[in-house]
Amino acid sequence: MLDDVTQKAHDETRQGEAFAPFAADPNSWRRRFYIESYGCQMNFSDSEIVASILNAEGFGATNNFEEADLVLINTCSIREKAEQTVRKRLTEFRKMKKNRPGMLIGVLGCMAERLKSKLLEEEKLVDIVVGPDAYRSLPALVEEAEGGQKAVNVLLSRDETYADISPVRLDSNGVTAFVSIMRGCNNMCSFCVVPFTRGRERSRDAVSIVNESMQLFENGFREVTLLGQNVDSYYFVDEKKDEVVTFAKLLEKVALISPLLRVRFSTSHPKDITDEVLYTMAKYENICNYIHLPVQSGSTRILQLMNRTYTREWYKAKVDRIREIIPDCGLSSDLIAGFCTETDEDHQDSLSIMEWSRYDMSYMFFYSERPGTLAERRYKDDVPGEVKKKRLQEIVEVQNRLSLESNKKDLGKTFKILIEGDSKKSDQEWRGRNTQNKIIVFPKKGYDLKKGDYVNVFVEDCTQATLLGKIIN
Ligand code: SF4
Repeated sequence: MLDDVTQKAHDETRQGEAFAPFAADPNSWRRRFYIESYGCQMNFSDSEIVASILNAEGFGATNNFEEADLVLINTCSIREKAEQTVRKRLTEFRKMKKNRPGMLIGVLGCMAERLKSKLLEEEKLVDIVVGPDAYRSLPALVEEAEGGQKAVNVLLSRDETYADISPVRLDSNGVTAFVSIMRGCNNMCSFCVVPFTRGRERSRDAVSIVNESMQLFENGFREVTLLGQNVDSYYFVDEKKDEVVTFAKLLEKVALISPLLRVRFSTSHPKDITDEVLYTMAKYENICNYIHLPVQSGSTRILQLMNRTYTREWYKAKVDRIREIIPDCGLSSDLIAGFCTETDEDHQDSLSIMEWSRYDMSYMFFYSERPGTLAERRYKDDVPGEVKKKRLQEIVEVQNRLSLESNKKDLGKTFKILIEGDSKKSDQEWRGRNTQNKIIVFPKKGYDLKKGDYVNVFVEDCTQATLLGKIIN
């Protein structure tokens, strides 16, 4: 879900990231493409599918847009700021095109879907516009654009899942990978643009998901995150085996590939996560004990306006159930401050549900109205900007305290850590995560380890964001 995927997985450090996946001889490619990605993890994952499609057509990737024949931006529409960033970037590319007239510029993803040919006709910023369900047509669109036509395909599909396309792993650490299991969303959260930009929900063939995960494992990856806007509503009927694959079944199938392969997932809608999923998580040690369970607001009245289909009490009962079945489960959330008509009392409900749920981490935003959403059509965006910001600040302060308290509770504990690479600050330290998805940094000293190894780490200290520890035998 976008709450969820778009908000949650908006990893600020990755926005605008460019990829150069093909280390092979650059002269072996007929043409070169450059791709820059914004937004949620789903978009980054889609860029890997696009890379694979272009690769098959003789395109190699470059991370220098000045030498590219095709410059692509995979865009996000969730917040106005994201669209502004993309527009700015497109204007820069446009200027560069003056000196390189043969270069093509394309827009992919949610903004392409939302604005469609407006980007071509009115803004004249780009040559190609491709929506999230039309990436297979990209090579044909490039050809059309090379012939001087403006090329656009923003058709949404009821069944496209790119199941047969093996994504090119771009900018990979070689240890953790995302595997897309479904596309689109059938929920209609009133603040969200995803149902309009990514279309109806469809689940990918379970066999192809297991095969892709298995291949990743064989190539040395040690963690997969099963990715979808609303993973708990995954549903696939394997007609050959006459088998119904629910999300719990899928989790189990991936977990059974190897006990050395960690399995995570994102994102769960609180209304859809089932006991079956929770029991499956509890049963397999390699299914990580971590759930991103976006609450969005703690007020039942606001939740109703958001069309989230659960109440405050219902959400609390779900958290109780998670803690009952998986007592040490890590929990994170998304929160929106200042949704339409939100009163101070509603805001206090959000703060109190945070305290009650004791989130380890949250993605927090103030409400920004998006064109075309149900909220834009139905409600007035009537909470003043300063009030939204003040409430957001209070939410951030509560979360910072909760994160620190949660990390302090881990002092003196030992965790099994999957090493993902060097710490950001020093190549003398490793960085990895525990099953609860907490980052831990520890000295390499005295041990012959490598990325992708598991190691037991004793927690000695912490900050609000990171645990600090040392390896123990
Ligand atoms: S409509 Fe709701 S559930 Fe679907 S992606 Fe948007 S926020 Fe997530």
